[in-house]
Amino acid sequence: MNVLAITCHPDDAEINCVGTLLKCIKRGDNVTVCHVCNGNKGHEVIPSDELRVMRAEEAQSAGRIGNFRVVTCDIPDLEVYRCNEDHRKKVVDVIREVQPDFIITHAPNDYMPDHVAVSQLVFDASFAASCMYFKSGVDGKAGVTPIYYMDNLAGVGTMPTMYVDVTDEIDLKMEMLECHVSQMKWMRDHDGIDFAEFVKTCSRYRGLQCGVQYAEAYTECMAWPKNTTKRLLP
Ligand SMILES: [Zn+2]
Repeated sequence: MNVLAITCHPDDAEINCVGTLLKCIKRGDNVTVCHVCNGNKGHEVIPSDELRVMRAEEAQSAGRIGNFRVVTCDIPDLEVYRCNEDHRKKVVDVIREVQPDFIITHAPNDYMPDHVAVSQLVFDASFAASCMYFKSGVDGKAGVTPIYYMDNLAGVGTMPTMYVDVTDEIDLKMEMLECHVSQMKWMRDHDGIDFAEFVKTCSRYRGLQCGVQYAEAYTECMAWPKNTTKRLLP
């Protein structure tokens, strides 16, 4: 299968779905991660243009460990909007190019505006990508595919309907998260937040809910014709 995770920031896949993506790789899927925003405002000391480059490299490092492809729409933080035609076309391009069997993205009730905008863009673009006469940078069309919404940050507001056991992947997930040095170090030094502990705690809590050690949680986007009788998540 072709699996496409469309996330907002360069580290969001590692936070919420990378254990699942690692399991997809193990079963032979092709995995692409696209971060829509470039993360250029995720610091208060490193200049924005430097941070943009640094964070793209951090995401690529994590992708190399996970053995999946990482691409970006390169939209600046806090400048991504559902109603921006160019942004819709950028996401349509990615979907048409990957031809995913399913898409993983943020839930529409997540904690900050860029995550919400990306969720809405993915919902809109996944339909637009299936319409032959919607013109974007990539010709042809994609199917209307199931969408799985990742856990919200800290699990707030998510009522999971599906779980993926990531017990065997948790160590690699944490290693990949640490690739995002600009974020992990900044939060430890500046905010006193151990984000590794934060993420591992969320995985443990979701594991507790479904009877395994560590898990990632999802809710299905219930909209015709995305619904399916098949289990597509690993
Ligand atoms: Zn984010």
